[in-house]
Amino acid sequence: MADKIAMNPDGTLHVPDNPTIPFIIGDGIGPDIWRAAVRVFDRAVEKYYGAARKITWKEVLAGEKAFQETGNWLPPETLEAFRAYLVGIKGPLTTPIGGGIRSLNVALRKELDLYVCLRPTTWYPGTPSPVKHPEDVDMVIFRENTEDIYAGIEFAAGSIQADKIQAFMAGELNVNYGFSDTTGVGIKLVSEEGSKRLVRAAIQYAITHKRPSVAIVHKGNIMKFTEGAFKQWGFEVAEEEFANTTYTWGQWERTKQAKGQEAANEEQREAEQAGKIIVKDIIADNFLQQILLAPKDYAVVATLNLNGDYISDALAAMVGGIGIAPGANINYRTGHAIFEATHGTAPRFADTDSMNPSSVILSGVMMLEYLGWQEAADGIRQALAETIKQRTVTVDFFNLMEHATLLRTSQFADAIIEKF
Ligand code: NAD
Repeated sequence: MADKIAMNPDGTLHVPDNPTIPFIIGDGIGPDIWRAAVRVFDRAVEKYYGAARKITWKEVLAGEKAFQETGNWLPPETLEAFRAYLVGIKGPLTTPIGGGIRSLNVALRKELDLYVCLRPTTWYPGTPSPVKHPEDVDMVIFRENTEDIYAGIEFAAGSIQADKIQAFMAGELNVNYGFSDTTGVGIKLVSEEGSKRLVRAAIQYAITHKRPSVAIVHKGNIMKFTEGAFKQWGFEVAEEEFANTTYTWGQWERTKQAKGQEAANEEQREAEQAGKIIVKDIIADNFLQQILLAPKDYAVVATLNLNGDYISDALAAMVGGIGIAPGANINYRTGHAIFEATHGTAPRFADTDSMNPSSVILSGVMMLEYLGWQEAADGIRQALAETIKQRTVTVDFFNLMEHATLLRTSQFADAIIEKF
């Protein structure tokens, strides 16, 4: 009998053998890629666990399909299902144009307080890439998902709100901006709690997955009390909560000031030899250079919302583009998680059975790992890697590869399943 995934009192997940998992099929190419992906998930679970385990899929509505059937882009029952069943998966959704909901994805993240946007970027051999050594890219991005300028607190130029804020700034804070009547206003909020829970999750991940470093990526040289504070709070989490397992560049800096650079370097070497995770920081613009110049130097990345948006796509491009980049939105405290294809609905290609289902398939792999169903997750990942290595691929990769065989979305799923 189908059962609910739940959070145990000790913070671990209770995963029944027959969990109910809500899914949103998605708009545009969503149905094509979902139909391919769900066959892969079911066959993998069957192959690795026989009759002992099975997922019961529960469709919930969002996006165009929801609007057509209920008149609501994001019906309350959908949110309720994700809240009740804890773990879900979704295809891409059309962003409604006009008033009301700004973005369905943002609404889901906000409602469930899914504060981590998790984006692993790993290269699968054979995948077309614009860089010479895509195999050097193996990073996991922890992007803060609820705060920052990205939270969308903004007011149009000439609006009463924009005028009031500017009048307050001029009158109370002595901040005058030149073009007040024609200036839109956006507000950047970064909190200690929001920063710390994100960096905490990144460090915890590095410990669990035995990764050597966590890089805090920020623009704190310019935005000192938001991005700079994010870095500071990140180092504090490491030093206060993970003192036995991490060494921070904040500590290195203090040792350098007290005892000189050589002593600081020696301290860091000792920490590395002891297997400690190095928690370092880097300015965001430099980071975007370094991922091209020295990607091997980075493993886990912790960053704010807007930086994370840019970084995720830049790294995804290096390992094969949005057709293959998976993602998840997670609240590690409540256990709520929604796994998702990171690309959009590509509406021109809807119902063509031609697009790449790898992004949603690998998101499902992340979900299986989150449930602790590691054998099925590994099995799918290996079979997908093998399928790409054999150059049997969908059109996006086919166009960039030599001697490849073109597969439809459904055939790509068949090719994976054959390899189990
Ligand atoms: P898009 O990602 O839908 O498509 C851009 C291009 O990328 C496509 O034309 C296609 O060539 C390629 N592409 C995308 N997915 C692919 C796949 N699986 N396989 C192969 N190629 C693929 O971006 P867009 O055109 O800017 O957005 C279309 C709609 O999707 C908009 O309504 C947008 O708001 C929405 N969107 C949703 C999400 C989401 O739900 N997570 C993310 C981004 C955009």
